Amino acid sequence: MSDCVFCRIAAHEIPSKVVYEDDDLIAFHDLAPQAPVHILIIPKAHIANTNGLTDASVEVVGRLVLRAQALAELRGISDAGYRLVMNCNGEGGQTVFHLHLHLMGGRQLGALG
Ligand code: AMP
Ligand code: ZN
Repeated sequence: MSDCVFCRIAAHEIPSKVVYEDDDLIAFHDLAPQAPVHILIIPKAHIANTNGLTDASVEVVGRLVLRAQALAELRGISDAGYRLVMNCNGEGGQTVFHLHLHLMGGRQLGALG
């Protein structure tokens, strides 16, 4: 989708600070980090949000979470702890409508909500 900012990041059409990439996923630093570690992990294929997931998405969602686990380990925050978040639609706080998993850590995070 040419009008989707994360599709354009996945296609390297707009710059981002990439920390991991394979055929199916790309992970990059959030432009406006809310924590010392704030990485977004996305599928390269466009899915708007968790409402668009199906049985066929099980593998890619699992891979997003496992990549977050690996990146947390790499950043040295596994033991201290971190947060994984997927926002969905307006009341969920979603602002970019391409599925993404936030990996946040490196400080004490507050309560959700
Ligand atoms: P959400 O509110 O869950 O949709 O999260 C979208 C996130 O994308 C926000 O944390 C933004 O700071 C981040 N973001 C938006 N545009 C970019 C971009 N071009 N590069 C990196 N992060 C971005
Ligand atoms: Zn997209």
